[in-house]
Amino acid sequence: MNRTRRVLTAIAATLLLATAGHTAHSALAPTTAAGTDEKVLYLTFDDGPGDETVEILDVLREHDAKAVFFALGQNLARQTDLGRRIVAEGHVLANHTWGHEDLTTLDTTSRDQTIGDTAELLGRLGADSPCVRPPYGATDDALADDLTARGLRQVLWNVDTADWTRPGADAVAAGLLAARSGDVVLLHDGGSDRTQTVEALRAALPRLAAAGFTFDVVPGC
Ligand SMILES: [Zn+2]
Repeated sequence: MNRTRRVLTAIAATLLLATAGHTAHSALAPTTAAGTDEKVLYLTFDDGPGDETVEILDVLREHDAKAVFFALGQNLARQTDLGRRIVAEGHVLANHTWGHEDLTTLDTTSRDQTIGDTAELLGRLGADSPCVRPPYGATDDALADDLTARGLRQVLWNVDTADWTRPGADAVAAGLLAARSGDVVLLHDGGSDRTQTVEALRAALPRLAAAGFTFDVVPGC
């Protein structure tokens, strides 16, 4: 399967996960005085910890927002204190492999290593989430089955803010503001300069909160 096809498959899979997760969540969620369902967004941050992770944690705290951080083992190993802070502040710290490998191209041994080494480090930091985000959103049926067999849960996304292309903070904020309740939103706190991501969160989170949104961890993570 080529990359485009794989990404499309990944998006479709995420839509299913997000829909299933949201249904489960909504069944338990309180309703507002007007009787409408709670509005919730599931923010996710990939490729960290990085230079902007502290600022991102600060802005999330200001809005009582919880998120999932899909960390790379190689970054986490250098910044274990930051990993502990993510967990201590009620976020989920989860597995994005050790070195951002395309899992669909790895043999079983290499896959064991990159997922297993990261899982071991996460465990030492007090993180025990079953959730894994395959780098590039690259997945296929064999990988999905393999992850399930390991007791892991593949989590993709259905809103890409494209912050990884650094299109300007306004564009990233627009992506956030266009999200709808139940969406799983892709953002990044590592891999490159993420100051646009920080600025976009500072602009968008107050507006989303004013519109009635809360920010929670992906159900099942
Ligand atoms: Zn990534």
